[in-house]
Amino acid sequence: MQWTPGNRDNIEDMRGRSGGGAIPIGIGGFLVLLVLSWVSGTNLFSLLGTSSQSPSQTVGTGGQVATSPAEERMVDMVDAVMRDAQDVWAQKLGPRYQRTTVRLFRDSIQSACGYAEEATGPFYCPGDQRVYLDLAFFDELSRRFGAPGDFAQAYVITHELGHHVQNLMGLNERAARDRRPGVNSASVALELQADCFAGIWGHEAAQSGRFKAGHVELDPGDVDEALRAAAAIGDDRLQKMSTGRVMPDRFTHGSSAQRVESFRRGMESGDPAACGAPTSNTTR
Ligand SMILES: [Zn+2]
Repeated sequence: MQWTPGNRDNIEDMRGRSGGGAIPIGIGGFLVLLVLSWVSGTNLFSLLGTSSQSPSQTVGTGGQVATSPAEERMVDMVDAVMRDAQDVWAQKLGPRYQRTTVRLFRDSIQSACGYAEEATGPFYCPGDQRVYLDLAFFDELSRRFGAPGDFAQAYVITHELGHHVQNLMGLNERAARDRRPGVNSASVALELQADCFAGIWGHEAAQSGRFKAGHVELDPGDVDEALRAAAAIGDDRLQKMSTGRVMPDRFTHGSSAQRVESFRRGMESGDPAACGAPTSNTTR
């Protein structure tokens, strides 16, 4: 994949403020601690690491975080892919598209969708309309799931951005109402559509001459990387890895074959309608 580093305006770098083992306490725990802090005269919040630090103290602490040139290059790549994919969606959806950012965190973070850890994997939170990513996931993808490469990583980012597109278009409403898993569930349909949306970006990125024009451009073999990643994180493959058997009634994202097929459908067509999204003159 060919790309140029930009100014990171598609990134909210929270690697410095996340982590620290903050424990989610919920509103009940919060009230109990408030009372105990008052009774004991000790700030018990500080013991939990939830603390009362104001955002201004902690935002932009990227410099305090132990990082490496390789990791910083990865941040630039996430920014470049996010910018490029958002440009593609802005072009396809026009004024309906609203730009978002990737919140980079390390180990754990509090989102509008709850407390998240690296083990949660990358996700999109409709509540604050942000993509959340711990870069350690890319090591997982490479080592544990056998899907290395920058386009495999770009597939993960653009899949999450696909959830943002769904949110903007109201395509996630059925799945939000019905969280039951299973091969025919609303959840699986939504995830497969996000894979297809990742392919929509891949279709554009595959056009030659893009890099010269300042955009991301795929190299030969990149598509195989993404297909390998899609296959690697299919529910059947993951279930087999963790439990030794496949349980289709527990599927949340679709099988490896389904994920590959969906990504490929977007990649080959470049048309959101091929992913089951309404076209511009359809209202819903
Ligand atoms: Zn997803």
